[in-house]
Amino acid sequence: MPFMPEAETMPRAQLKEVQLERLVKTLTHIEKNNPFYLKHLKGLTAKDIKSLEDIQKFPFLTKEDLRKGYPFKWACTPQRAFARMHMSSGTTGTPVINPMTAADVRQWGEIMARCLAAAGLTPDDILQITPSFGLFNGGFGFHYGAERLGAMIIPIGPGRSELQLKFIKELGTTAIAGIASYPLRLIEVAKKIGFDFHQTKLRVGIFGAEVWSDEMRQKIEREMGITTFDIIGMTETGGVGLGIDCEYKNGIHVWEDHYLIEIIDPKTGELLPDGQEGEMVITTLTREGLPLIRYRTGDITAILSRETCKCGRTMLRIKRIKGRTDDMIVIKGVNFYPKQIESLIMGLEGAYGQYQIVLKKIEGKDYMLLQVEYEGERPEEFKERLHKKIYDFLGFNVDIEILPVGSLPRQPGKAVRVIDERSK
Ligand code: ZN
Repeated sequence: MPFMPEAETMPRAQLKEVQLERLVKTLTHIEKNNPFYLKHLKGLTAKDIKSLEDIQKFPFLTKEDLRKGYPFKWACTPQRAFARMHMSSGTTGTPVINPMTAADVRQWGEIMARCLAAAGLTPDDILQITPSFGLFNGGFGFHYGAERLGAMIIPIGPGRSELQLKFIKELGTTAIAGIASYPLRLIEVAKKIGFDFHQTKLRVGIFGAEVWSDEMRQKIEREMGITTFDIIGMTETGGVGLGIDCEYKNGIHVWEDHYLIEIIDPKTGELLPDGQEGEMVITTLTREGLPLIRYRTGDITAILSRETCKCGRTMLRIKRIKGRTDDMIVIKGVNFYPKQIESLIMGLEGAYGQYQIVLKKIEGKDYMLLQVEYEGERPEEFKERLHKKIYDFLGFNVDIEILPVGSLPRQPGKAVRVIDERSK
């Protein structure tokens, strides 16, 4: 059941009107409050918008642009209107700060409540929130959403896996939220201590912040006995909650009354037709502190459908994120994303879920080593089958190392899947 049926199932003609009106409002807000931002827009303003298509005349905004405006150059309200901030999780360089007004925090709560409802949660649910509560937006996003929905919150935060399991069992947790590599860690600890997820009330997992394959998803669902939902969003767009898939799992619904989405060719910047893969570009329609006009997210996806979904929502659906433009690996002239390798690994029985792609230059030539943890009885056979699958996919051989479970380093926070030592 949608959290806000009148918005989520709005006829698309009406939705377009809402988008147009809010786009004009957002541009007027920028023009009124931030000359620096207006200059970036090359003087284009609300008066240049007659239809939604006119957005294509506007320049893109990149992460680099936002970095250059650190900390508050892009902000469109006076500092006293800021209620709080979150910061992008990038590990290097100048961070991106999103200053949020009280209205922005409310908007966040609303879209997150919609996401939780799409995942089948109701006020009867107990949500265990495992992302951190801090500069990273995950913990707070789920918190606001659950609060708005009226579900009970267990704000446990990251790590402490044994306590996580104890709570799942003893407090009757029905849903868990986390970054996409965390469930694997929980499964690992559960196995170690003989914990059986199937003996608990846990039925829903909502995961995001990282790219995860369908095959990984199947493993998580099987081993934890839950249904999973893929949630998207980032600090720049106002945090997690930009969209989520629904019970029909036929793409990720994007909350279009809050966000205008375009898919572009990352090389040329040209708008791509529905169905074609490219980079997701987001324009925010209801944000005050840091409104975005044509922000290049770096996420690779495609618009799947603008038809009404079986769930009744009219909001368009996109493909699960394939990767980020800056995660793309180019080796021996072949381009691919780590997720595609993950799919091949996880499609084989006995794959544990932990893997690492190591790239090096040896005597001036590209070299790739794939390290994979395996939990079955026949490592040689597994290696041979994986070898063949990787060869069929890439068109060249890579070195594969099959390792016992627990061999690869476990990272706190986001998983490190690729180690590229080629520039060293
Ligand atoms: Zn749906």
